Amino acid sequence: MMAAISAAERGAEVVLLEKNEKLGKKLYITGKGRCNVTNACDREDFFSHVVTNPRFMYSAYSQWSNWDMMDYLESLGLPLKTERGNRVFPVSDKSSDVIRTLAKALERAGVQVFLNTAVRELLIEKDTVQSENAERSSENAERISEKAERISEKAERSSENAELASGKKAGASARCTGVRLASGEEIPADAVIVATGGISYPSTGSTGDGYLWAEEAGHTVSDRFPALVPFDALLPDGHPCKELQGLTLKNVGMQVFCGGKRLAEDFGELLFTHFGVSGPLVLSAASVVTAAINAPNPKGAEKGTEGQAKNSGGAAKNSAWRMVLDLKPALSEEQLDRRILRELEGGANKQMKNVLGSLFPAKLVPVMLRLSGIPGELCGREVTRQQRQQLLTMTKSFPVKLLGTRSFAEAIITQGGISVREVNPKTMESKRTSGLYFAGEVLDVDAFTGGYNLQIAWSTGRAAGLAAAEAAASISE
Ligand SMILES: Cc1cc2nc3c(=O)[nH]c(=O)nc-3n(C[C@H](O)[C@H](O)[C@H](O)COP(=O)(O)OP(=O)(O)OC[C@H]3O[C@@H](n4cnc5c(N)ncnc54)[C@H](O)[C@@H]3O)c2cc1C
Repeated sequence: MMAAISAAERGAEVVLLEKNEKLGKKLYITGKGRCNVTNACDREDFFSHVVTNPRFMYSAYSQWSNWDMMDYLESLGLPLKTERGNRVFPVSDKSSDVIRTLAKALERAGVQVFLNTAVRELLIEKDTVQSENAERSSENAERISEKAERISEKAERSSENAELASGKKAGASARCTGVRLASGEEIPADAVIVATGGISYPSTGSTGDGYLWAEEAGHTVSDRFPALVPFDALLPDGHPCKELQGLTLKNVGMQVFCGGKRLAEDFGELLFTHFGVSGPLVLSAASVVTAAINAPNPKGAEKGTEGQAKNSGGAAKNSAWRMVLDLKPALSEEQLDRRILRELEGGANKQMKNVLGSLFPAKLVPVMLRLSGIPGELCGREVTRQQRQQLLTMTKSFPVKLLGTRSFAEAIITQGGISVREVNPKTMESKRTSGLYFAGEVLDVDAFTGGYNLQIAWSTGRAAGLAAAEAAASISE
């Protein structure tokens, strides 16, 4: 929608092809139906929240930042408000108002919207001689750039510049001339923008079609993983997490380990579910470790239908994955030990199942007792030093065994996608096929929760729309 509005505002004749019966089905469920449209953070903060390929976003973000998006929506008559963590929502708390606002902007800009209209494939004209040359030189450039990347960050930057330059020199090897619909009808176009989203929550329409089209147009599509996704998990003694289902721990420390290696560390809110763990803390951790936890056969898995990912969420192949929770991060071990001693003294003649109620939420008490080897009927004065030590250890280091991520059906976003090396970061145009542009989640860019993923879609959509309109205008001249 953003790409279509931008192209039309720049003077192009635009058609938007949407296979669903209505616009913005995924947008509708964002932010629990309230749509966290963007984040009111500064530039540096924005990029620190982009997990994959932040540098690719520099140019698109400069052209259309979070602040531009906020001004734009308000100028269209959608008042916004900023909440905790700088998350921006419509004042009405209704995602449907965001969709309505964009639908009105589409109409005002003169975009023709075709609903129930699935695109089957891109129409691509290949220049075979040029294509082979171009592919060879850009592959060479990629090899050089990969080598350079290994050497240093600095070398990586210059290699990317070199790649950009060589991409330009080689020129695109083919041209996108339109699309073919599922009905068989062809729609010719001077430029085509693919904004088909990822493969998470496929019921909203994002079934990964764009990945297949990109591959057919000569693009590399990296392996895709469910990100911002909960984990299947077990309690430290192998019991299912179901026992704690519904329990939210507001301020806990969290670390994720694979064997002895720490891969993520954070602080915040965690939720136990019937299958494992979820909540903001867990979703963000999943984005950092999803590729690694699903890694053992990244290349080999079968390609599914309709552009499904080569891999999906599933069991961690390595049983060494665990999440270690600090249930009392504000207290040092010494402070916590003193606190436990006080509770035991105060509850000297009380049963431990009642004493621990002042330290933990009610649902957690039987689990903490079990894990510490303390019978619930034991009185505070009967607790041994060893049991007290075990309670302390479990409180500061509560290990949750991670079995794997949940599937794409439950992932807020898809990590991986169309390689950004083959896309011009200023225009979002393919370096392989001229007249072909990409925007949004279909690209290999993703971020943490907080409105950043939608901002990626707004910024890349804006860049693609403006550039495609200009390219189309130059063809017509
Ligand atoms: C539950 C949930 C909550 C989220 N909450 C937030 C949030 O609050 N803030 C945030 O920043 N991000 C959030 N996200 C992520 C965000 O919604 C996505 O990153 C964003 O929608 C991506 O935009 P997109 O335009 O690239 O893809 P999408 O929004 O997925 O749109 C792609 C569109 O392409 C259409 N399409 C696909 N294939 C075809 C085809 N062959 N022919 C025609 N049309 C086709 C689809 O039907 C769909 O309408 C959330 C995601 C989920 C699942």
